[in-house]
Amino acid sequence: MSFFNSIGRSMQRSGPRSTKRSPTPTSATFPTSPSGENLPATAGSPTTINSGQKPLYLCSPFVEAALVKGNFKTIVMLPKYVDIMEWVAVNIFDFFQNLNMFYGVISECCTQSSCPTMSAGPALSYTWINQDRKSVQLAAPTYIDYVMTWVQNLLDDEGTFPTKSGHDFPPTFPATIKHVYRQLLRVFAHIYHAHYPQILHLRSEPHFNSLFAHFLAFGREYELLDIKDVRGTPGQPAVGIGALWERWKEMGILEG
Ligand SMILES: [Zn+2]
Repeated sequence: MSFFNSIGRSMQRSGPRSTKRSPTPTSATFPTSPSGENLPATAGSPTTINSGQKPLYLCSPFVEAALVKGNFKTIVMLPKYVDIMEWVAVNIFDFFQNLNMFYGVISECCTQSSCPTMSAGPALSYTWINQDRKSVQLAAPTYIDYVMTWVQNLLDDEGTFPTKSGHDFPPTFPATIKHVYRQLLRVFAHIYHAHYPQILHLRSEPHFNSLFAHFLAFGREYELLDIKDVRGTPGQPAVGIGALWERWKEMGILEG
């Protein structure tokens, strides 16, 4: 385990979570973990305002913002002498912190009324599997709060993300990480779909694009990300972040 990574993570961990988000839900409604089975469900009401129009994040100049020449392959490669588990852990930690910060800033605009479902594209919204294994629609802020609280708790759990020397990563670590990755992907997808105007308003699209492209490249490199979670149903036109991913592949920013 890398000494510096461990120290870095321990120090960063003490940072406060955003105070703008809703408080942690009660244990009565808080599932122990989001299910890996909850595939995107088709929502009943397709967006009419923007139907047929390209979302802004797919338009120039926003789609290219801050995506430097070349691709992300080099920055996701495992550095020499670094343990792969530790490399994955430290990157997940950074992705989570950055995404949490972005969501904290825009969370005022993500409310029960503005986002009654966890939408991620026209006619695409994610459902949550509750404790009774039932698929339920949650408002996006509730869904995201569940995800972020769950991930934060995992990161703080020495048994899942060991930081002390002599503590090994558990055998379940790869499966847990894939699960985390899928849920964080959904948070990105919702922000792109529902809150891109706020990202633009903050002039943060270069940073946000870079963060997401890095997240995708890393996820593909270490097989943490299922193509169908990004791309959507095979044989159908890609929507939302699936379309963005395809565009970045065409541009040579990401690999297939
Ligand atoms: Zn929202």
